[in-house]
Amino acid sequence: MVIEKTYLIPTTITEALEMAKANNDTFKYLAGGTDVMVNRFQGNETSPCLIDISKLEELKGIRKEGGFLRIGALEPLEDLKRVQELKDEFPLLIEAALSVGAPLLRKTATIGGNVLCENRCLYYNQSEWWREAVGYCLKCEGDICIATQGKKACFSELVSDTAPALIAMEAEIELLDVDGSKRIPLMDIYTGDGVKPRNISPTAILTAIFLPLNKGFKGVFNKVRERESLEFTSLTSAVTLDKDGNIRIVLSGVDPKPVVVLGKNGDDRSELIKKAIKGARAIDNDMYSRKYRREMIGVYLERSFGELGVK
Ligand SMILES: Cc1cc2nc3c(=O)[nH]c(=O)nc-3n(C[C@H](O)[C@H](O)[C@H](O)COP(=O)(O)OP(=O)(O)OC[C@H]3O[C@@H](n4cnc5c(N)ncnc54)[C@H](O)[C@@H]3O)c2cc1C
Ligand code: SF4
Repeated sequence: MVIEKTYLIPTTITEALEMAKANNDTFKYLAGGTDVMVNRFQGNETSPCLIDISKLEELKGIRKEGGFLRIGALEPLEDLKRVQELKDEFPLLIEAALSVGAPLLRKTATIGGNVLCENRCLYYNQSEWWREAVGYCLKCEGDICIATQGKKACFSELVSDTAPALIAMEAEIELLDVDGSKRIPLMDIYTGDGVKPRNISPTAILTAIFLPLNKGFKGVFNKVRERESLEFTSLTSAVTLDKDGNIRIVLSGVDPKPVVVLGKNGDDRSELIKKAIKGARAIDNDMYSRKYRREMIGVYLERSFGELGVK
């Protein structure tokens, strides 16, 4: 039974999954809706059915569970700053969350929606009229990339600000689907293909994010954006050092997926920076040039290493 132009509001996960199954590939989940609704307004998201999962109690709450802090996918970004466990062990996540949009947006925007928000590109996030005039690209049923003037690959940017912070602290996620649930590292969902940036099934519901406790993460967060508020990232950098001397560098805004570089305290810093810049397949599809954003990777990483006391 495929229902046309429908807004469904399940009250349990089981009901949500039944609705998803019944509507097959023709629906979109809606949490805070701050990403989905903008994409619908621009004509980039056209599903006839929306399934509003914001009432699902199973996706709410933050608690310790088996050596991890479990963060419900529906937790609003603005509320994270009040959670004592986050303040104590994961202040990097609070900083990342508070860099998203502006306070009003963050009261509605959820952490689950943030790690799953759609990739962006200057040539894609435009009105239908604009895209038709320029010519459609790979991400909207055209046959070439407009930004690179002809490449057969899409480099739309991952713009999530919390994903780099979470991955730098070894976050895992739980996905519940019609055929059961699985728990995987957050990093594993990103494909690197700007047309389809995540490899999770359309019916899967992200129930929670898990952060490992007692790792002693110290972290530094930086973000290039045009204004201090209401701006998507042009480069987000999250760098952590844990109590065992492991360094994790994670970037967003410069590639369709998170760029990850791992190292150890004592490794050659300039080599780690070179690896991060090499891994970032940034193109000129952003308000800031590719050249500037790649240079800023080096600036941010040097600064982060200094603040963390990396040798
Ligand atoms: C003006 C403006 C500024 C913004 N600035 C930023 C910014 O600085 N940084 C940033 O990262 N983002 C920014 N955003 C994008 C967006 O607001 C955030 O990413 C937000 O966290 C998305 O959360 P949401 O709950 O509103 O997601 P939604 O819009 O509800 O959903 C986003 C995607 O995730 C899916 N989804 C959501 N929750 C689940 C779930 N539990 N299970 C399965 N699928 C799910 C939806 O189907 C959809 O594909 C901005 C948006 C606007 C309009
Ligand atoms: S990177 Fe190219 S294919 Fe991808 S959204 Fe931008 S213009 Fe389209």
